[in-house]
Amino acid sequence: MRRTDRSRPSRRTVLLAAAAVLAVPAVAVPAAVGAAEPSPSAAAAGLPSGNTAYRTLADYEADLAELVADHPDLVKPITLPYPTTSGRTVRGVEISTNVDADDGKPVFVDVGMHHGNEFPSGELTMEFAIDLVERAAAGDPYVTGLLGRARVVVVPVVNVDGFVRARRQTDTNTDMNRNYGMGWLPITTGGAAPWSEPETRNMEWLLSTRQAVVFNTQHTCIQVVLYPPLQLEAGPAQDVDRLHALASEVASIYGPGYDALPSAEDYETTGEAIDWAYYATRGLALTTETCPDAGVERTYQTQVLDVYDEHREAMLTMLETAADPAQYAVIAGKGPKGAVLRITKAFDMYTSPYLQPDGSTRPSSFTSTLTSDLDVDSRNGKFEWAVNPSYRPIPAYQEDGIHGFQTGFYEEPWILTCERPDGTVLQTVPVNVDLGERVTVDLEECRREFHQARP
Ligand SMILES: [Zn+2]
Repeated sequence: MRRTDRSRPSRRTVLLAAAAVLAVPAVAVPAAVGAAEPSPSAAAAGLPSGNTAYRTLADYEADLAELVADHPDLVKPITLPYPTTSGRTVRGVEISTNVDADDGKPVFVDVGMHHGNEFPSGELTMEFAIDLVERAAAGDPYVTGLLGRARVVVVPVVNVDGFVRARRQTDTNTDMNRNYGMGWLPITTGGAAPWSEPETRNMEWLLSTRQAVVFNTQHTCIQVVLYPPLQLEAGPAQDVDRLHALASEVASIYGPGYDALPSAEDYETTGEAIDWAYYATRGLALTTETCPDAGVERTYQTQVLDVYDEHREAMLTMLETAADPAQYAVIAGKGPKGAVLRITKAFDMYTSPYLQPDGSTRPSSFTSTLTSDLDVDSRNGKFEWAVNPSYRPIPAYQEDGIHGFQTGFYEEPWILTCERPDGTVLQTVPVNVDLGERVTVDLEECRREFHQARP
């Protein structure tokens, strides 16, 4: 009942070949990269964890903790800042070579289970984390090379309360994938207000503090890879070509039945993760839905085991994309060793127009603040920081209503501050940097001030 024949030449071979020709300065692709090809017997052996049934929440927590405990050089834990409505903790991991280093690598954020009853979305996400770590720990040169160029953040269960109750919504009966602020509407399951749910604010925090080049949210059960926008009236995203290219590559990996579409063409909604994520951060944001072919029974076998090999290749493609310098921007320079660099921008975004308590129909506004920091810890103070472009796509949702088919970008520089570890700002530099660009900032003033004796 497989959708795809596993005896076909592995797509991984193609990925490996692509990795070998990618001209990435300063990172050598290991010569023995072809050795990373898994044997067919390994692929047929099952999941990276060896599991044969769905996890409980305790299983997820144990697996995340074990990854950290067994591979502290590759994995560090993340605790999201807001406990769920029922007081549960949302956890994830960060995966990279030398994971504790503040090295400015580009980031791939991968999350499961916005919808608490879509169990395969958590399983696939968790299995990919285990897979990456085990391959890197075993010395797989392809995965090690990728994790040397990029950082992966995995949160397998973002809606923990919903998962525990095997229910789509959170414990306030909100569909967290209708609760993101941009374009939000007060539909029945949209929540009391935009960002009303702690689970949604966790995701806002995660994506506002990481420079996620690619963001994937995993779902079931359709065969489709979706990208912004959520509404036809919005018109195509400014980066539609890049979004479609990645979505269609991923869709083709899952199988011939999978489509790559703007989310609006699947069905129209508002307040989903990918819309806010793309229009706020300009990261490539995808909703990946997996499902067995029509007529195939939905079981652990068909929804997890049978799809995992394709899922791994799909996620490796997203990771490759996150690691591709054409997909992000770079801020480079030489700071004083020991200083903290911070980039920040804050801007208002808007919901859809809706009936307000005062009787008027208009959008509500909210402020999105993006802020990331980087410790200058190389001996000579040099840094290379992979960031999202400072030019932000103009969204359809505006202060006075919906204005679709925008083609422009806000010229909105990153505000870079060079600080002492105690937060004292020594220099502030606005930085405009576009996709694929590398901008060098002059931090001489910060270097001079940093080394002066303090009063
Ligand atoms: Zn879903």
